[in-house]
Amino acid sequence: MSVLDTFRLDDRVTIVTGASSGLGVAFATALAEAGSDVVLAARRVDKLDDTAALVRATGRRALPVATDVADPDQCVALVESAMSEFGRVDVLVNNAGISSAYPASRETPDQFRSIIDVNLHGSYWTAQACGKVMQPGSSIVNISSILGLTTAGLPQAAYSASKAGLVGLTRDLAQQWGTRKGIRVNAIAPGFFATEMTDQYRDGYLDGLALRMVLGRVGDAGELAATLVWLVSDAAGYVTGQTIAVDGGVTIT
Ligand code: NAD
Repeated sequence: MSVLDTFRLDDRVTIVTGASSGLGVAFATALAEAGSDVVLAARRVDKLDDTAALVRATGRRALPVATDVADPDQCVALVESAMSEFGRVDVLVNNAGISSAYPASRETPDQFRSIIDVNLHGSYWTAQACGKVMQPGSSIVNISSILGLTTAGLPQAAYSASKAGLVGLTRDLAQQWGTRKGIRVNAIAPGFFATEMTDQYRDGYLDGLALRMVLGRVGDAGELAATLVWLVSDAAGYVTGQTIAVDGGVTIT
């Protein structure tokens, strides 16, 4: 087997949450290109159908499942749907996420909780459900953020706490499930990639950060998806508990 073969995901079954827009679409498509069938989760099932068409265009199977990851029961139902359709779950990509920016002096408990509920709790509920059915050799990737590692000028206590929480969650699940279940758990901390989420930034915000981007530009979703494919594949078989920054160098400045 050549080294390139170890990057293949042929006949694996992957769940991608937040697959209805942005990075989730790029992740689902790249995983399918690498050979995986993909279970697509998000609240908007009509938009999931668009992603499903992209997956099917690669020749792989797609299963859209309407899911609000903030609801633990819906996370369990998502994994049950995957098991009844495909009989296995090899990879989970916890990508569903929302962001907000409120000054700490004014942020309400509900505003703070709503971010933690989706970004941190939702990832944990889905990982727990997958952990029950995953076989040795499986892998989980939590999509954190450079906001889990550093600051970027906006008042984002809830988002930053949720993404830093994912770094800790990743480490702990990796140590709980490595030897016992043979499941690797890692995180990716993306820098700035143009999506619906970054569309919410005020004009000039990204330009102001340009000096911190060592590579001098925002990232392309394909660059992130390539890291994901590596991380969930056998090519990363000895990597667990890590948070990999894919950020054009923002976190070294
Ligand atoms: P996006 O808004 O385009 O996509 C977010 C996805 O999550 C959408 O499919 C949305 O429907 C889904 N989602 C939101 N709430 C949900 C819920 N309760 N249940 C199920 N699905 C839900 O944004 P994106 O930029 O593609 O973000 C994807 C992930 O990447 C997020 O976790 C985000 O925090 C992270 N991230 C993005 C960037 C970036 O620059 N775009 C940087 C760092 C981290």
